[in-house]
Amino acid sequence: MESINPFDIVKQQIDKCAEIMHLDPSVTAILKSPVRELHVSMPVRMDDGSVRVFQGFRVHYNDARGITKGGIRFHPDETIDTVRALAAWMVWKCALVDLPLGGAKGGVICNPKEMSAGELERLSRAYVRSVFQFIGPEKDVPAPDVYTTPQIMAWMMDEYSVISQKPQFGVITGKPVSIGGSVGRGDATARGGMYCIREAAKVLGIDLSKATVAVYGYGNAGYNAARLCRDLFGARIVAVCDSKGGAFCETGIDPETAYRCKSSTSTVCGVRDTDRISSDEILEMDVDVLIPAAIEGVITGKNAGKVRARIVAELANGPTTPEADDILFQNGIHVIPDFLCNAGGVTVSYFEMVQNFYLYPWTEADVHERLDKKMTSAYHSVVNTSREYEINMRQAAYVRAVERVVEVMKLRGWV
Ligand code: GLU
Repeated sequence: MESINPFDIVKQQIDKCAEIMHLDPSVTAILKSPVRELHVSMPVRMDDGSVRVFQGFRVHYNDARGITKGGIRFHPDETIDTVRALAAWMVWKCALVDLPLGGAKGGVICNPKEMSAGELERLSRAYVRSVFQFIGPEKDVPAPDVYTTPQIMAWMMDEYSVISQKPQFGVITGKPVSIGGSVGRGDATARGGMYCIREAAKVLGIDLSKATVAVYGYGNAGYNAARLCRDLFGARIVAVCDSKGGAFCETGIDPETAYRCKSSTSTVCGVRDTDRISSDEILEMDVDVLIPAAIEGVITGKNAGKVRARIVAELANGPTTPEADDILFQNGIHVIPDFLCNAGGVTVSYFEMVQNFYLYPWTEADVHERLDKKMTSAYHSVVNTSREYEINMRQAAYVRAVERVVEVMKLRGWV
């Protein structure tokens, strides 16, 4: 993987968008820097009795459109610039699906795969104590992201409630359903992406019941994407992978079997009746739909020319570099850009916030129907913009999202 600073990518993307939209330099300057950020050091007692100091961040990128929203990642390679980039993408994501929210992101440098449940709980609670003043149901509402789970959200909500001395279910989303989570939040990121793929297939004339799919990454988003591609479309999942490698089977891989394999052996590599392949091979596979569902920077200038999928549906944040974007566009590959494709997660998080404010839970059918409306309308507005301006799908998504943010900044008198 190339080492690319994701925040440099964000700034390049904003410059390109500013050029297309003829933005005023003062507007561009605001869009290129986070409004505020907090850096914290957290001592945590480990199981062996020692104390380790973890570094963490929370970035509020832009709050023009409302309460800031965005997940918290626990990752060994986390950096402040990754968090800034992810926070910026949250601003565009919320604006694109027209949620009345701003964008934020949090991160902790740690390796959850090497930590016990007790250590993770103490770290999660320490994080909330450190950022307590910075978050809140009417200020900034975190959620899960890479390597953070509904259980971690529950501990964080509890810690925040203990400090506030009152129940504060609305401080965080992605909670388990029994403590104020929303039904349908678990697979919302993948499901939102499915609605985009369904619409893209209509536009491109692809019959999804005969389509082949490759999934890069097999965490929450990747597994649910594989499952829903089969359940909603009858598509065939021919390849899956995770950080340790991949599995291929021409006649199709059962998503649940791959999930069980990953749960018991910590990788999808050895799924029964499949051939072992490398993760990189998945990106270059001749399939109808390629779903990057892991981390940023996997489709680069080096391998983009070898991508043969007809649709690239980015469930991960930032999987494609700007250089790769140009190559995919020239090669006629239909990219559903990250902050459109994976907006289902934050959309159902927003539904969860609404349900928490009103103390009134919705049904799963309500959640799916409202999510479908948001995603379908956002997808078509991006395709239409891409055609109107003759720009790629990511630039089109930027134009739609940024015009909403700029309109509010102007109304508020910031520019
Ligand atoms: N972490 C998810 C994302 O990148 C969800 C954020 C949220 O629900 O606030 O969109």
